[in-house]
Amino acid sequence: MRMPDTEKDSTALDNPVKNESASSLDFIRAIIAEDLKAGKNNGRVATRFPPEPNGYLHIGHAKSICLNFGIAAEHPGGTCNLRFDDTNPTKEDVEYVESIKEDIKWLGFDWGDRLFYASDYFEQLYQYAVQLIKAGKAYVCDLSPEEIRNTRGTLTEPGQNSPYRNRSVEENLELFERMRAGEFEDGSRVLRAKIDMASPNLNMRDPTIYRIRRVTHHRTGNKWCIYPMYDFAHCLSDSIEGITHSICTLEFENNRPLYDWFLNELNVKCHPRQIEFARLNLSHTVLSKRKLHELVEGGYVSGWDDPRMPTLAGLRRRGYTPEAIRNFCDRIGVAKRDSLVDIALLEYYLREDLNKRAPRVMAVLRPLRVVIDNYPEDQVEELVAENNPEDPSMGSRKIPFSRILYIEQEDFREDPPKKFFRLAPGREVRLKHAYYIKCTDVVKDKDSGQIVELHCTYDPATRGGWSSDGRDVKGTLHWVSAAHSIPAEVRLYDHLFIKENPNEVEPGHDFKDYLNPNSLEILTSCRVEPSLASAKPGSRYQFLRLGYFCLDPVDSVNGLLVFNRTVGLRDSWAKIEKAQGGKG
Ligand code: ATP
Ligand code: MG
Repeated sequence: MRMPDTEKDSTALDNPVKNESASSLDFIRAIIAEDLKAGKNNGRVATRFPPEPNGYLHIGHAKSICLNFGIAAEHPGGTCNLRFDDTNPTKEDVEYVESIKEDIKWLGFDWGDRLFYASDYFEQLYQYAVQLIKAGKAYVCDLSPEEIRNTRGTLTEPGQNSPYRNRSVEENLELFERMRAGEFEDGSRVLRAKIDMASPNLNMRDPTIYRIRRVTHHRTGNKWCIYPMYDFAHCLSDSIEGITHSICTLEFENNRPLYDWFLNELNVKCHPRQIEFARLNLSHTVLSKRKLHELVEGGYVSGWDDPRMPTLAGLRRRGYTPEAIRNFCDRIGVAKRDSLVDIALLEYYLREDLNKRAPRVMAVLRPLRVVIDNYPEDQVEELVAENNPEDPSMGSRKIPFSRILYIEQEDFREDPPKKFFRLAPGREVRLKHAYYIKCTDVVKDKDSGQIVELHCTYDPATRGGWSSDGRDVKGTLHWVSAAHSIPAEVRLYDHLFIKENPNEVEPGHDFKDYLNPNSLEILTSCRVEPSLASAKPGSRYQFLRLGYFCLDPVDSVNGLLVFNRTVGLRDSWAKIEKAQGGKG
């Protein structure tokens, strides 16, 4: 198979099987291999996944999880910490902490006893700040947040020194202690690193390291009224935990000098190496927690776990398997430059996995009644159907066949166009696992002219769907027995956004302007085969000829069956691949 182009560089593309040889190591694994070869970190490899608990995890986070936990697993004794970067209590919540843990476990990764919180280090971080003050490397600044912004300078102009920059160590120590004791108003003072207001890197222009915020923290309660800034807390948390390689996304590249500055000035024992990679961008969706928050809070979706959301909770509810997501993450690999990955590639890995594991069943989404006139009125046959032709070990089941059936409305045309090989007046087709039937009559509603039911005859010599005289039919239809099938609701999903890249917003527009108004279609009069009466919430099936579906674990209550279409059968990826193949 020709592998689709993704963000891997061209050399890696020649060899789609990752880690098959040393030359196929991605650049992060190559750096780690070099460090090990050079004897760094006593041969240890320690990574971490550091989510901020201010939203649910999305597929972009999955890329980072697979990378960090994956690298740890590839090295003997390697470790990967789960650390909540909970330094900004205004936006954080335990709901997010719990969902993040659940999602990581579901993806198939285990942090064991290596669960940490940056908030556990608040006292230690405070002491580090005191140490910086004592070294003359930090000062309390009384400028307002706005004044700090205005004196920061620009990319072309240096910033201005704060008038408080040269406070004595003693005064700084006293003021910082009083900040902690709650003597000052929120926002009235901050602690800043004393670096260089003329640095070409804006992050180095005396960045704020502590601010006053009277907010209750979900873990430390009201113990603190000052909170450390991300840049300060992150590198030190990494160091405290003995991380060797601190892997983050590209937007932190310009923060690396600051990361290193804190660790150098504080002369810590462990100085992790920060490595940046390109974040995952996926077509037809957004992977920014801020934007996902907007969709949830604005009611554009039903919640973080809406099956249209790119969150792991949404994908799971939609019917995605962890394996499909992990295979996708493996395939896209890591790179240094940003790119947009087509969501069809994710769907390709989903179909590949579901094809192997999903039992086949029959369901009719838009039923059309069919009466088999020559079938005995009170007869019911139990016909044998294999559960998965790809995997005989999945066995078979019995499906009832009777005189009155339902087929799909779109499988019948009174006036069939040229390449329409399904049912039409006078035409014979195969009913999957059952018999050949031939349409003899069409009954319509007198007033509306709508088709109400079809009349057909069946050929008893074609039981199982095969004729003994070698006569063939072109079409094979799925069906259910009217009396035995059970009602169900089916939700069909399409891309959440119509625009390929909704992050590219045209002037005068908002990303929400590109939401797909038809991303959800609800069908309420579907009929599914009786074996689905015992379906477990979250279980996945292939509805023959229709796609993969998953029993919605949230809304399937009180005997109501609600199925989410996980993905259609049509391999849109194969199409794109074909089109790309033409280009070489
Ligand atoms: P967002 O920008 O959506 O708010 P974030 O980066 O602030 O996300 P964090 O909770 O801080 O979210 O992320 C935890 C880890 O996941 C970080 O190391 C971050 O770099 C990584 N990560 C976040 N989004 C992506 C993405 N789209 N692709 C790869 N890694 C990501
Ligand atoms: Mg972040």
